[in-house]
Amino acid sequence: MTRPLAVYVHIPFCTYKCGYCDFNAYAGLDAIKLDYGQALLREIEANRSLLEGRTVTSIGFGGGTPSEVPPAQIAAVVAAISNIATLDPTAEVTLEANPGTCTAEAFRELRAAGVNRLSLGAQSFHAAELRFLDRIHSPEANAAAVRLARAAGFESIGLDLIYGLPGQSPASWAASLDAALALGPEHISTYALTVEEGTPLARRVAKGEVQPLDEDLVADQYELATERLSAVGYEQYELSNWAWPGFESRHNRTYWTDGDYLGLGAGAHGYLGGERYENAAHPRDYIAAAAGTGRPLPASLKRYTPSPATAMSDWLSLRLRLLTGFRPQEFEAKFAVTLESAVGPVLQECLAAGILARDPRIRLTRRGRLLHGEVAARMLAHLESVPPQVAACPS
Ligand code: SF4
Repeated sequence: MTRPLAVYVHIPFCTYKCGYCDFNAYAGLDAIKLDYGQALLREIEANRSLLEGRTVTSIGFGGGTPSEVPPAQIAAVVAAISNIATLDPTAEVTLEANPGTCTAEAFRELRAAGVNRLSLGAQSFHAAELRFLDRIHSPEANAAAVRLARAAGFESIGLDLIYGLPGQSPASWAASLDAALALGPEHISTYALTVEEGTPLARRVAKGEVQPLDEDLVADQYELATERLSAVGYEQYELSNWAWPGFESRHNRTYWTDGDYLGLGAGAHGYLGGERYENAAHPRDYIAAAAGTGRPLPASLKRYTPSPATAMSDWLSLRLRLLTGFRPQEFEAKFAVTLESAVGPVLQECLAAGILARDPRIRLTRRGRLLHGEVAARMLAHLESVPPQVAACPS
């Protein structure tokens, strides 16, 4: 039996490039949107042999801003995938949408095309914070987007929020959380603002124009979200994600649990049978590759098998993002080494410090959730300095 497959489709277009964003996203490329849609269809066709006989359990349109392209392009991609692979009747088909680019007609067309889940980049419910982030939408547009989505028949809506903004008070963050809750989304994701190298925000920080929020205050805001969201019945299932029971992201779970995923589009990453690949990042290079005039598809531009240390570290880092953690036997079945022999000293240290718990699943404690990055970095450093002896890889 073949493993189920998730498909990620990258749409790299945005109306405006936000100052904090280091995603593979571009403003001002409207002229190539149609060519890009054709390139996606070519890439799907180039992956025919990989898709044939597979059951696709989720499709995720991310970006960039997928709601920037005509819904007909999204529909064509969903149809092309389901014409070759079997699209599971319960498949989750998610599209990330910017509240500033939502219309009733587009939502109706997307729903008709099979998109059944929307992830709306609300980010904040304060006009000044949205302006600071360079977002093109207003707080009112967040509420309007949810209303339009409901009217179009979407029963699964997620809102993304950003906290840890320079100068953001606990009251301001609490007000955004409450405004989001008032809209009744099935899913809420919260992300701390990070200052990414090379972005306009990083330059403003370097010049002293912007002072990042103190780390302890950012941690307090994370705690505030945890308390506020669980108090009203949302279940936290991942470090940044809360949902009503049954509305957890199925697509993202594939990433966190070592599942296969095909990445389509500019800069998209894929993970198939333990091998990773990455497409050409710039949309023009990607279009050329798909048309056969650039470096070739399918997805063969950067293909590599991670070293055992990296593969183990990735696996542990992703599993620890889930609040349920993992059973040591799952790690051992995958890598044919004991967890102790791979990361024993780091594990013991984190257990003793109350960052990890073992019950018998290994998972981050509530305090440990704030230290996930540090735990993952230490595990990787240990795996690289003391490589475990892999007997055989059973997968
Ligand atoms: S809308 Fe999203 S992807 Fe586009 S520039 Fe802003 S943060 Fe980046």
